[in-house]
Amino acid sequence: MIWNPEYECMDRQKLKELQLKRLQALIRWVYNEVPFYRERLEEADVKISDIKTLEDIQKLPFTTKDDLRDNYPFGMFAVPMENVVRVHSSSGTTGKPIVVGYTRADINTWSELTARIATAGGATAKDIAQMSFSYGLFTGGFGMHAGLERIGASVVPVSTGNTERQIMLMKDFGTTVLVCTPSYALHIAEVGEDIGVDFSRLPLRVGLFGAERFSEKMRQEIESKLHISATDNYGLTEVIGPGVAGECGHKDGLHINEDHFLVETIDPDTGEQLEPGNEGELVFTTLTKEAFPVIRYRTRDLTRLMTEPCACGRSLVRMEKVKGRTDDMIIVRGVNIWPSQIESVLFEIEGIEPHYKIIVDRHGSMDVIEVLVEMSSEIFPGGMKELVAFERNIEEKLQTVLGIRVDVRLVEPKSLDRASGKSQRVVDKRDL
Ligand SMILES: [Zn+2]
Repeated sequence: MIWNPEYECMDRQKLKELQLKRLQALIRWVYNEVPFYRERLEEADVKISDIKTLEDIQKLPFTTKDDLRDNYPFGMFAVPMENVVRVHSSSGTTGKPIVVGYTRADINTWSELTARIATAGGATAKDIAQMSFSYGLFTGGFGMHAGLERIGASVVPVSTGNTERQIMLMKDFGTTVLVCTPSYALHIAEVGEDIGVDFSRLPLRVGLFGAERFSEKMRQEIESKLHISATDNYGLTEVIGPGVAGECGHKDGLHINEDHFLVETIDPDTGEQLEPGNEGELVFTTLTKEAFPVIRYRTRDLTRLMTEPCACGRSLVRMEKVKGRTDDMIIVRGVNIWPSQIESVLFEIEGIEPHYKIIVDRHGSMDVIEVLVEMSSEIFPGGMKELVAFERNIEEKLQTVLGIRVDVRLVEPKSLDRASGKSQRVVDKRDL
């Protein structure tokens, strides 16, 4: 099922022409309406008339999270407040959050895009969709809510938390689509198991998951525990929220809504644009946003673009699942490590649960990594000897992949905290 074949399956040449037309209009718009961009363009000595092809985007300066933060709260808005009908913000774990605005047209675009994501993931007008994302300044809840309503699904805005009640509603309402973070979906599965729910007997059939990186192994866990088809979708507050990209039924990369977003991958160190197929930092330019356009926004997310045609018929380019963030990278004893590398090793090992925590600390002048891994209740070993041997085995596997030694400590089933929102996998005590 394709929500908008006219755009999602557009001829690539026509799509490029549309993108260029929209890019030129955007540059004119921000030059006239946002002092920040006018100054940046003048500093870079770029005139509106210099943008003759899509390649010319490389002449434009990047926009960073710090730029957005420096203009807190409304300095980057390209329309007067009377035209802004909605405001959202990023979580802002450190310092001021990033505040974004939407005009009525932006809200309409947003629901069109999340309608595409929901449809690509398998949702239809006949579905009962349980929204277990939090509502509020966070864009996840409102974004997916609007798309599901647009396709005609019956939306149940439960929000996060109170997992037993979530499961009760799921049973009583006959929920068929679940929308939340992948880690919360796993938590729902676990709580359900504890209270004796057989998910194979529920009508639940589709999961639309986002706001968090999630591995292939985690998808398999969720699909087998909840008896659903689970897809990944991608978005970020600074660009629009959910709706930037999403997987189709082939689950081999996320289609990017290129008629609304111009995507590039760059070398995070040099800023050079990369050819598709090479891993780099994702950079987005919004082509249609009115209230909060961004030009060459550096997401810090690392992935690879896939230009090969997809069997689903969409012509939109795909991105691989995000590997990690440039700022997620942990540097320990001069070695670059991504939590996703540790995760991929753990998920290959029988007898442990997809719950772990990575703790980085400094002992004297020495950086150490400890990985806490939850055992599954079925095979929690009795003897100390077996336990230690199991730990050593995981340590060896991790050392092969990471190139440095890490300490593994097995912990009891269900002893690590479960987040209902985004889960915090890495604790870097060196920062404290
Ligand atoms: Zn596809």
